[in-house]
Amino acid sequence: DRMMNPWNPASDLARLNREGSAGPVAVPREIREVVGQALYYSGLSDGAFDISFAAAGQHYDYRAEKAPDKAVLRRARQGIDYRGIQLDEDSGTIAYAIPGLQIDLGGIAKGYAVDRAIAMLERAGVRAAVVAAGGDSRILGDLGDRPRTVGIRHPRKPGEYAALIPLADTAISTSGDYERFFLRDGVRYHHILDPDTGRSAKGVQSATVLAPGTIDSDALSTTIFVLGVERGLALVNRLPGVDAIVIDSEGKLHYSEELLRADSQ
Ligand code: ADP
Ligand code: MG
Repeated sequence: DRMMNPWNPASDLARLNREGSAGPVAVPREIREVVGQALYYSGLSDGAFDISFAAAGQHYDYRAEKAPDKAVLRRARQGIDYRGIQLDEDSGTIAYAIPGLQIDLGGIAKGYAVDRAIAMLERAGVRAAVVAAGGDSRILGDLGDRPRTVGIRHPRKPGEYAALIPLADTAISTSGDYERFFLRDGVRYHHILDPDTGRSAKGVQSATVLAPGTIDSDALSTTIFVLGVERGLALVNRLPGVDAIVIDSEGKLHYSEELLRADSQ
């Protein structure tokens, strides 16, 4: 919160957002690490994952049912482009090369925190544990003789599961359109935005990703949600050790290739 919450004016990230357009700002190693990974997934997804979505994202308030109008969105979209984020490891700084650029790490920072927590447990000699932070979890070890069973929440039936999967030694993240949202005139305004439009991404109800690290599963679940079923699964199928389960707008489940193979064995 003190480092990466953009809404906390005292945080390092809020300071970067205030001063980044004026020139390079020295930021803690942790922020550089998370921003570096975010930029990696931006490149991999051709900008579907983009922490500069915040230029538009800052105009939404889901609790107050507030969304930006067309004029505000048009202006905000000019500030969205991950290529304007200049990360310099030698000087330990970040600068913003595009006017209006703002960063929000909400799609990746929780995964990073979970990985750090798991690393602490491992250093302390713990061999089996689950660290869960809302939609992002990492499972260390198994239950001795069998894997743990993890449920994927049903995107439209609270309290029910859409799928149950046995897991050991993996990270799992789900991005859904049912966590932070409001409905107006039949449109679902939710917290995962398509950086191209600045509006809520359509076509998917939830995207679940399995990966070795939670920073990866977190960023990728948001990425796959934006890319949609076809392009999302095509990306996952290119990444070794990464799997996905995507629920489309009709509620139908789609699996990545490795999961389909595992299922038929
Ligand atoms: P949660 O934080 O609820 O676990 P996600 O991992 O899917 O869910 O992250 C959603 C968050 O990601 C949003 O609240 C926002 O902070 C951020 N975000 C939204 N759209 C994008 C995007 N296109 N690229 C990167 N981050 C995004
Ligand atoms: Mg995420």
